[in-house]
Amino acid sequence: MADIPTIDSLDARGKRVLVRVDFNVPLADGAVADDTRIRAALPTIQKLVGDGARVVLMSHLGRPSGEGYEEAYSLAPAAARLAKLLGRDVAFASDTVGPDAQAKVAALGDGDVVVLENLRFDTREKKNDPGFSQELAALGDAYVNDAFGTAHRAHASTAGVAALLPAYAGYLMDREVSTLTGMLDQPKRPFVAILGGSKVSDKIKVIDALMDKADVLIIGGGMCFTFLLAQGASVGASLKEDDWVERAAEMMAKAKERGVRLMLPVDVVAADRFAEDASTVTVSADAIPDDMMGLDIGPETAAAYADAIAGAASVFWNGPMGVFEMAPFEAGTRAVAEAVAANEAADTIIGGGDSVAAVNKFGLADAMTFISTGGGASMELVQGEALPGVEALRR
Ligand code: ADP
Ligand code: MG
Repeated sequence: MADIPTIDSLDARGKRVLVRVDFNVPLADGAVADDTRIRAALPTIQKLVGDGARVVLMSHLGRPSGEGYEEAYSLAPAAARLAKLLGRDVAFASDTVGPDAQAKVAALGDGDVVVLENLRFDTREKKNDPGFSQELAALGDAYVNDAFGTAHRAHASTAGVAALLPAYAGYLMDREVSTLTGMLDQPKRPFVAILGGSKVSDKIKVIDALMDKADVLIIGGGMCFTFLLAQGASVGASLKEDDWVERAAEMMAKAKERGVRLMLPVDVVAADRFAEDASTVTVSADAIPDDMMGLDIGPETAAAYADAIAGAASVFWNGPMGVFEMAPFEAGTRAVAEAVAANEAADTIIGGGDSVAAVNKFGLADAMTFISTGGGASMELVQGEALPGVEALRR
């Protein structure tokens, strides 16, 4: 990120620093149910507080209508949790750019923190409205973006405002972008990419982009059946996308041409219903009975995948190998997660909301080199797309 300055080069003392964070946290009974995202922003906030900045935090939460205040989407609980985590007072403004925000920002002393109310209470945020960007910019002397999870959106707080103030990347933003682009630009070889999840159509661009980078491409999850179909297999009632069979065949041809080892399941766990208590049977991947659906990779496949993963110098994983949310279909995802965790010498990067949830479920998060906090944003970056929130920081 040579052309993107970080907060290390910001002389913040006494300055009002307007920081876009991702406090889009789940709430339950008026309190924060999971504070992972708030914790992820702490290094940046603590650094600015320590430097004596006047820290102005802004975020969205959920999907309010955009027509003003809605209690269910207030950031007040997030501000309260932040105060606990920081062990200091945190002010809260009951509006975003209105009189209360202006007064609370004006009242800040060096090292003080205020959280503004939900950006999306104003429809102008998502429209990247120039007037709203200007009203936000009036609350700061410098701008910091630490909200990697929304960097793929061109909104007033992620794009518009960055052009109006000296702009910097926070530590989380910097770490996400440099880790993911570093992996793509100079992967340690062999580079093993593992792709799963539900649909080929969701992931085709990721598959295509990784085909140009990886030495081994492992395919699991619901998407594998469209590939198996392209090979002429009978996939029964498994998740399949008939319109994507041709694209899957093209991907297999491309792998061959590039010398990429494309691995598909050789056996699958099939069920008579999409249910936790379904009857299951392990069958060959090319002969799934008509009335059964594949809901996980089989043990022989899991062993072959684990073997390939053990030989990797770097690993990128997106997408569960099966319906890991149900106990009878979690073994494949668990085996792959354990294999990635066991390869201590490799750089291991996990991206995607459900994949990260699976790794957490198995208690293996600490064994991974890097777990991306940005679902959609990480995937767009891996696909080779420019992220508006990142581009806006370039100098
Ligand atoms: P991520 O969020 O990590 O990018 P996706 O959203 O693409 O992953 O896919 C996750 C979902 O895919 C999970 O909810 C999982 O149950 C589902 N899935 C995995 N394998 C199958 C399968 N064989 N059949 C149907 N759904 C599957
Ligand atoms: Mg998902």
